[in-house]
Amino acid sequence: MLSEFDLIKRYFTRERAGRASTVLGVGDDCALLAPTPGMQLAVSTDMLVEDRHFFAGADPRKLGHKCLAVNLSDLAAMGARPLAFTLALALPQADADWLAGFSEGLFALADEYGCELIGGDTTRGPLNICITVFGEIEPGHALRRDAARDGDDIWISGTLGDARLALAGYRNEAWLDAASHEQAGARMHTPTPRVALGRLLAEQKLARAALDISDGLIGDLSHILAASRVGATLDVDALPAGLALQREDQALRRRFTLAGGDDYELCFTAAPAQRAAIEDAGRASATPVTRVGRIEAAPGLRLVDAHGVPLALSLRGWDHFQQ
Ligand code: ADP
Ligand code: MG
Repeated sequence: MLSEFDLIKRYFTRERAGRASTVLGVGDDCALLAPTPGMQLAVSTDMLVEDRHFFAGADPRKLGHKCLAVNLSDLAAMGARPLAFTLALALPQADADWLAGFSEGLFALADEYGCELIGGDTTRGPLNICITVFGEIEPGHALRRDAARDGDDIWISGTLGDARLALAGYRNEAWLDAASHEQAGARMHTPTPRVALGRLLAEQKLARAALDISDGLIGDLSHILAASRVGATLDVDALPAGLALQREDQALRRRFTLAGGDDYELCFTAAPAQRAAIEDAGRASATPVTRVGRIEAAPGLRLVDAHGVPLALSLRGWDHFQQ
């Protein structure tokens, strides 16, 4: 039987990756972090709870990926560069296979983004994974929710709706063929944090406001509108649907791109003068970017179709599919 300390040593302590920003990693009372002089720390926490954020019995490797990915996505949405993270873990038991898979998925993504595990806490309890990430950003460059302005374009990275489509498949709300199931499932279980794009948008001051879409575009965009005291018009048919969702009908496409969930794409606003530079940033970061609407002074969110005709889609209709 693994003791708590064996477990930490075996699965969560590694040869030092040697990041300059980590002065002291796992093993002491605190980790010591030294951001680049003159940079600000960006800090964010996300917790994943079994049966709420993931299914019981979920693949531990994918879970390791996802719980770090959703945290890195918050850094991306601020435009910060990842430095390090802590991991607070409640486990029902010390299951060696589970721990091996989980830590593999976790560290594969951590290494990809140069984000080092510097500490955490481990306890017995219902499966619960809480990560805090630390990043750094140039003062005054953070992509805040309150920075959108009248006349800004609204942009989306990547595609929306496939994670929600996967959920519909699991719940038997939609029938998916094998290819769709695979594509949509990958978006749900192993999201890609848009760190490189976020960095370019912040570093070069291309975008104004940004956030990552975790609870559906409409709900999340509303946070930008409220914080910035502006409104917006969204071209619903311009929203980039995921590969699997593209094969579904228009009603489902609209519903799941607008009010899906688990997308982990960036929604950001930028002055129209930045269009070419943003397209370049998309190419440089190998991240598709799509212009989907406009920020306006008049409060509220207006939905229009490809011809600019207002759409009378009721929010209740989508809420019915949320949950
Ligand atoms: P303390 O009693 O001071 O809270 P712990 O005994 O909980 O310390 O942890 C010992 C060391 O192991 C600390 O450096 C802590 O940050 C680290 N640690 C504990 N759990 C984890 C984990 N799941 N992942 C990474 N480091 C961990
Ligand atoms: Mg502790």
